[in-house]
Amino acid sequence: MSKRVLISGASIAGPALAHCLAGYGFEVAVVERAPHLRPGGQAVDIRGVGKDVIRRIGLDAQIRAAMTDTKGMGVVDRDGIEIDRIMADEHGGDGAVAEIEILRGELAKVFYEATQDRVEYRFGDHITSLTETSAGMDVGFASGHREVFDMVIGADGLNSGVRSLAFEAPDCIRDLGLLVALATVPNKLGLDNWWLVHTDGVRTTGIRSVRGNAEAITHLGFPGDRSDFDRGDVAGQKALVRKRMGDMGWETPWLLDQLDTAKDFYFDSISQVYLPSWSTGRVALLGDAAYCPAATSGQGTNLAIIGAYVLAGELAKADGDHTIAFPAYERVLRDFVEGNQKMGADNARSFLEDSEHRMEHMDFDEMNTIMNNIDLPHYA
Ligand SMILES: Cc1cc2nc3c(=O)[nH]c(=O)nc-3n(C[C@H](O)[C@H](O)[C@H](O)COP(=O)(O)OP(=O)(O)OC[C@H]3O[C@@H](n4cnc5c(N)ncnc54)[C@H](O)[C@@H]3O)c2cc1C
Repeated sequence: MSKRVLISGASIAGPALAHCLAGYGFEVAVVERAPHLRPGGQAVDIRGVGKDVIRRIGLDAQIRAAMTDTKGMGVVDRDGIEIDRIMADEHGGDGAVAEIEILRGELAKVFYEATQDRVEYRFGDHITSLTETSAGMDVGFASGHREVFDMVIGADGLNSGVRSLAFEAPDCIRDLGLLVALATVPNKLGLDNWWLVHTDGVRTTGIRSVRGNAEAITHLGFPGDRSDFDRGDVAGQKALVRKRMGDMGWETPWLLDQLDTAKDFYFDSISQVYLPSWSTGRVALLGDAAYCPAATSGQGTNLAIIGAYVLAGELAKADGDHTIAFPAYERVLRDFVEGNQKMGADNARSFLEDSEHRMEHMDFDEMNTIMNNIDLPHYA
């Protein structure tokens, strides 16, 4: 009988794992707290061995078809004068702008569409209890439903609900001292597949055209941590962004004016997750829930996809025996993950240093070495 796996979270890690597990014949359900697949977010990058993985799992063509067409990035001063320029094809396509760059929402859609016929998605619900019994994991849901699964995987992000329920890890999130807001705005500057960034030293305003230049996404980054905002209070988050970024020059004032009417708004801390173990009993964590490397590493999406590939591969290799597969998954990935987390923390520190020219000092060759520093197993 095939093993039944419940995955919590339908962003990147969850649907990527669902795709790999369904391919091996596991019976998979995904529960997502949001009422539908969440749109929004910036462009995310697939780099280094992440590129191998999307080929191996058969989604290279679909992902490339949904890519952005960003040609590069200009760094501008307060008056909009360009002081630096980075093109997408620099550093073999693994520089500041990656060769495979895709909006996070579009990438989630690719994984969702590749799995929706083979995987049961349950939107608008979440896990409220996890009890290990001799029959498996007895799972209680907010909807009142109960069900037993062989395994539960928490792919539910930085503030993972599965992690809170199954792990004793109250201090596992480390803030790196930055907050970031993202929103879709009009492409008022007429950017042509282009990305502009302005920094006053520690704060950053960026805007890039997306979706065939029909609109743009702004990102507003500034110092702060999770104690500065309430996760449930979106109006308060927008007010905080306006307060901290209000005196920032360049195009910032009109971008701040867009926040109230933007069709999407995403706000979070730049943080990392450190756990001594990524599994306990029949429960394992994946992606940001287990080992968030922070957006400053540029590797959150890659680690989620690579992790999904390894976790599914190890489960298939162990014929569904989680007692063998979960430790093996961690053995394959841990050093690689820790290298990427160190890079994310180092980059965050440099972002907090007062420099308009920080891009010039970023060592993309060293970063590419870290992003490729894993001997990725081939799974049948
Ligand atoms: C809307 C959104 C926008 C983002 N934008 C960016 C960006 O611009 N740049 C960037 O670097 N990273 C962004 N991220 C984070 C990025 O997707 C991750 O760092 C990376 O891709 C790893 O993904 P993940 O699937 O592990 O976690 P996440 O992408 O964080 O996904 C977690 C998923 O779990 C769901 N969830 C949370 N709690 C529960 C629960 N209790 N039960 C069920 N489901 C739950 C969430 O709604 C979400 O769909 C964004 C994430 C989201 C959700």
